[in-house]
Amino acid sequence: MPHLPPVPLKLALANTPEIELWPAGLLRARGNHDARALSRARRVLRRKRDGAYLAADLPEGLLPLVPQLRREPGLEAALDALDAAPLHLRNGVEHVGALPLHRLQERRDGLGLDAGAYAERTGLALVAEPDWLAFAGFDRWRRPLWLRIDAARAWQHLREAALADGIVLEAISGYRSHDYQLGIFERKRARGLEIEEILAVNAAPGFSEHHSGLALDIGTPDEPPAEASFEATAAFAWLRTHAGGHGFAMSYPRDNPHGIVYEPWHWRFAGA
Ligand SMILES: [Zn+2]
Repeated sequence: MPHLPPVPLKLALANTPEIELWPAGLLRARGNHDARALSRARRVLRRKRDGAYLAADLPEGLLPLVPQLRREPGLEAALDALDAAPLHLRNGVEHVGALPLHRLQERRDGLGLDAGAYAERTGLALVAEPDWLAFAGFDRWRRPLWLRIDAARAWQHLREAALADGIVLEAISGYRSHDYQLGIFERKRARGLEIEEILAVNAAPGFSEHHSGLALDIGTPDEPPAEASFEATAAFAWLRTHAGGHGFAMSYPRDNPHGIVYEPWHWRFAGA
C-alpha cells in the first residue's frame, strides 16, 4: 500500500479581520519583485479581500510590497499577529480564538442581504473565523488546504485510514474566509444575479461551515468536484462507514432541516 507523506502541521496561517499572514514558502510569486521578496521572507501579509501581497516579513524588517502600506486597513492587527505568530504551535499552544464579526456585517449590508431573515429561514448560525489555521496538506489543485489544527489532524488520519483500504480521498476545499464568500456574492451580483438566486447555491457570507476551519469538501480522483454523483463512489461508501469513527459527520444529508441541497461531499469535524 502506498502511504501519505506526513504533512507539516507546524505551518500556520495567522488570521486577522482584513489580512492573513502566510508562510512565504506556500505562496506563488507573481513577478520578479515578489519572487525576490518571497524567497527571503518568513511570512507574507496578504489582503484577504483580493489576495494582494502587502508586505514581506524579512529578517531585517518589514518590506512593503504595495505603496502606502501604512494606510492599509487592518494593518495594526496584522502586525500584532505577526509578533504573536511564532507562538502558534510552539510548546503545544493550540488555543484557537475567534475573530470579531462586525466587519462582515458592514459588507453584507452593502449587498442588500437580510441576514436576520436568512438565519431564521435556514436555522443556520453565524460562524466566526478562527484566528489561526494549520496547513493540512494540498487540495486537488495543489492549493494549500487550511483547517483548524484538530480538524487538520483528523483529516490526515482519515486519509491514511482510507488509503490503507485502497481508497484515495482528496480535499476539494477547506477553510474559506468571510471575504472569500463575500467576493462570490459581489461577483455574481455584478453579473446581474439576484440575491435569492445566489443563496440557492451559496451560503450567505458568514453562515458557511467552511468559515470555521472545521468543514471540508471531499472528493476522489476522476470525479467532478462537489457533485451529487460523488454519492455513487467507493470513496463515499467508505466515508459513510468510517468517517464517524474519525469525528467527521455529513452536514447536509438529504432533506436536512436547513433546506440546503444534498451535499454528500461536505463533511464537518465535530470532535473525536
Ligand atoms: Zn462544503
